[in-house]
Amino acid sequence: MQHADFLSRNPLSLNVNVMTRNLEWLNVEQRRDAQLRPVIDSLHNGDIVPGYLLESNVLKRERSDPILGVQKLTVVPKSFQWSLINTYHTALKHPGWDKTLHKIRETYYFENMIAIIRDFVNNCVICRTSKQTSGATQVQMHPISKPTMPFEVIHMDATGKLGTPNDQEYVIVTIDAFSKYVLLRYCNDKSPHSTLGALKQVINLFGTPRQIIVDGGREYLGEYKNYCDRFGINIHTIAPGVTRANGQVESVMSTLKNALIMIKNYETPE
Ligand SMILES: [Zn+2]
Repeated sequence: MQHADFLSRNPLSLNVNVMTRNLEWLNVEQRRDAQLRPVIDSLHNGDIVPGYLLESNVLKRERSDPILGVQKLTVVPKSFQWSLINTYHTALKHPGWDKTLHKIRETYYFENMIAIIRDFVNNCVICRTSKQTSGATQVQMHPISKPTMPFEVIHMDATGKLGTPNDQEYVIVTIDAFSKYVLLRYCNDKSPHSTLGALKQVINLFGTPRQIIVDGGREYLGEYKNYCDRFGINIHTIAPGVTRANGQVESVMSTLKNALIMIKNYETPE
């Protein structure tokens, strides 16, 4: 089976392989879908549902293609749409939504395909962090060295205010580039003194890093910078908002920031 072969080369294809190879199972999943079940029931009763048919008990959708003629596409239950899109989008190496749609539509159908696939691709973290608007793969612009051991290269980011009227208004997030280990340190301001305090804590625990990646904030100047210069630590500045340089860490950072703000909002007494 051609499509199964295409998908079986992809590690994320488990659900899809099951879908294409085990039709009995797919039939069960289609029946579980609240939108598809009435269509299947109607067809079983001999009613005509325009555009739909049953083939080996599997619900299919007819689609006429100007070149290929009438195609019988497998109808994908809601619970498997996301993993199907993910499988194709990843296997095709993150193309735009239209290419992703085009490929999926050769075999599968589900309602609102265009909107759902566009939504998926627009929110794909890898697409958003690793590509320019042209769609070409981003070439590494910054000489960030690849770490070979933990706490050789770290990312630091100060964030706040979190909205609490005490000495925990800000949090300094440190992420190890190698292990993605995260350290948090609360403080009452976003100053070089506070960021240096957090850095010293990291050094006490894990040793001196070779490189620290920061945004261009003033909290990495003054005594923070003097300290780094004295110990031969390279400070690498990335323009704020540029998330391409290390997409994975940036995405951990932004998820974490949102979570911290949410936690703080819940904790704030009335
Ligand atoms: Zn993508």
